[in-house]
Amino acid sequence: MEKALINFSFDDGRLNNYTIAYPILKRFKCPATFNITTGFVKGEFKPGELTYGPPMTMDMVKEVFQDPTIEIAGHGYWHNNSLKDIIEGIVTLKGELGVEKLTSYGNGFASPGTGLNKDTYKKDMEIELEHIDLTYIRLSLRNMSMKRIRSLARKASRILHWPFLYRLAYKDTLMDEHDDKFLYSIPVLSSITVKEIMAIINQAVMDKKACVLMLHSIVEKNAVCDPWDYEVDKFIKLLQELTMLQDKGLLRLTTSMDIFKNLR
Ligand SMILES: [Zn+2]
Repeated sequence: MEKALINFSFDDGRLNNYTIAYPILKRFKCPATFNITTGFVKGEFKPGELTYGPPMTMDMVKEVFQDPTIEIAGHGYWHNNSLKDIIEGIVTLKGELGVEKLTSYGNGFASPGTGLNKDTYKKDMEIELEHIDLTYIRLSLRNMSMKRIRSLARKASRILHWPFLYRLAYKDTLMDEHDDKFLYSIPVLSSITVKEIMAIINQAVMDKKACVLMLHSIVEKNAVCDPWDYEVDKFIKLLQELTMLQDKGLLRLTTSMDIFKNLR
């Protein structure tokens, strides 16, 4: 890759993705990926079942889908990793949007939680998923080397918030080549500082690698209710730093699908 590629990937289809995150993304002309839990957006979850807050409406998803800078991807129907649920989520979503494919390169799927990984992904799954034109599966983090050290670094960084620890913990999650169908992502929890995220971004810039940042909610200051709520002020600061690096030609903000296409 000629430069680092960075993607904001929002899980679940939470209402604040539309009301808070989307206007900010537009202001910064920043592409992103919205991973939609179809049953949640269709109002079929009980209140509090997936998260404390409400979902986006399908009309909001349709509006965002019209924006060429935003990728819409699957995130299950009932938010699980079964073959049936992955397919039902994407097929229903395509039906609601009235399209054959979610992007011109096929369909993306962001796996909920950590249940699906390279070992649990089965051959029969692969065959079935080809039928629905599944291009990539975004998983959570990956450790290729120093598993124990990286796991310790993750735990320690949650307490200490030293940027170099965060970088050590998530370095293996950066990508420059294909790993079958898989993309890996860095979970951005409420407590993570902008400095910590920038430590891993700077590593991606240096190594010319791709980085998917997994977010769930963007919320107003002091409205953090669960570990996946990220404060809007921090999100804006992060976008300022990233667009500055983008203006210098050091990275490009993009979608998960675009990252997948650009891997070796
Ligand atoms: Zn989710």
